[in-house]
Parts: sequence; C-alpha cells; structure tokens
Amino acid sequence: MTPLIAGNWKMHGTLAEAVALAQAVRAGVAGADLLVCPPAPHLASVVQALVGAAVAVGGQDCHAAAKGAHTGDVSAPMLRDAGASHVILGHSERRADHGETDAVVRAKVEAAIAAGLVPVACVGETEAQRLAGEAESVVAAQLDASLPDGFADAGGVVAYEPVWAIGTGRTPTEGDIAAIHALMRRVLAARFGEGGTRLLYGGSVKPGNARAILALPHVDGALVGGASLVAADFLAIAAAAVAGRTPGG
Ligand code: PEP
Repeated sequence: MTPLIAGNWKMHGTLAEAVALAQAVRAGVAGADLLVCPPAPHLASVVQALVGAAVAVGGQDCHAAAKGAHTGDVSAPMLRDAGASHVILGHSERRADHGETDAVVRAKVEAAIAAGLVPVACVGETEAQRLAGEAESVVAAQLDASLPDGFADAGGVVAYEPVWAIGTGRTPTEGDIAAIHALMRRVLAARFGEGGTRLLYGGSVKPGNARAILALPHVDGALVGGASLVAADFLAIAAAAVAGRTPGG
C-alpha cells in the first residue's frame, strides 16, 4: 500500500507562511501520497499553491451539518468547495477542547463522506488509560463508535494518535504501536471485511524516528503535527516511509 503522510498544521502560520510551506512541499516524494491540512482560512490559497502538484489538501475539522446557524463552524461541503479532498476528524485536541464525543465524531465522518471528502478519523488513548492497561479496549471502542457504516467503502483513513504522544516528543514503543495497529486491522476487518483502509500512526513522528515506525506492520503512513511545519522534515518523513518499504532502501 502506498504510504500516506499527512501534515496537520493546526492553528499555526500566517497566510503567507502557509503558501510558502505549500510551495516548499510541492515537489512531493515519489512513492508516497502527501496530504497537508492547513487552517481553514488558508485552505483555498494552499489549494491554489498546489495546483498541478501531487499533494492533497484537507481540512482539520468540519461540522456534522451541511449548513445552518453554527457560528464559527465550517461544513464539509464548504471544505470540498474550497478544494479539499480530505478532512481530519476526531483529533484528540478537538475531543478535549470541544468535548467531541465518539457520536459527534461519527456524525462528522458521515457528513464528510456525504460531501465526497475522505475522512481521516483519529483515535487514541490517554496516558492514564495506557497505564491502566486500557489502550487496546479504548481504541477498539473508539473505532466502533466513531466510524459509520460505509467508512471503508469511502476510502476512510484511521489515525492512531496516543494523546500523550502528541507534541510531547514521546512515542510508544515500536511493539506497542505494532500491537495497536494489528488490533485496529482486526477490528476493521471484522466490521468492514478485509480491505485497504489506511492506518496512520501519529504522535511525535520526526525524521529521526519515522523510518522505524513506518516500517512496522499495518502502519500505512503517519499523521504529523509539529514536523509538518518544516517542509524538509515533512518530506524527510515521507522519504523514510518509502525507504522503509524498499528492499535495501
Ligand atoms: C498531531 O497533532 O496530529 C500530531 C501528531 O502532532 P505531533 O506530530 O506534533 O505530535
């Protein structure tokens, strides 16, 4: 499976910086699919900066409704209209900052699919849950409740992002990442059948650890926060993903 390296730019950067960053990743990396997710106000300009490049653009969230009286929100059709092809949903920062439950995430995923967007649905345990030995059950329950029927057919992507690894410089052991990804593969196969759902790992992925993480079984790419704001690092992570799949690479 071609690895997908997705950059979550979060709430960072001016419009000029976002366009410059997009231009710096335009060249892409042969053998990897790239996706960048800028802040909503910058999205259309980033799409424009990437015309003709093999780099997809996504939103970082959308409302569950297609339109309506929801001040400050952005709908899935609006993202699509602005040129997005993907949208990150259920990121732990949305779950924590905006109280998004699995049911809310599921409704948003449905809205994204209805609008023709590829949802990138995020799951992951807190540190307390991991220490309590609950990581696998938490992730399985989140998958069950956050993903609607039709998720796999829509090409949906799942990102495993342990909350405690995001932006901290800490990562699970390779064994722990492999165990959760194997679990996710089993859960998705049981529900949707064997298929090509891409499973990303996210949480402090950097050029230095990308190769080892991205070579693990059932890790089909990465969702990258901090390192995606530096074009050279983002491209290096994508190159590491390709190298990890190439015999002798
Ligand atoms: C993220 O927020 O999706 C993320 C993975 O962040 P970071 O790479 O900075 O840990």
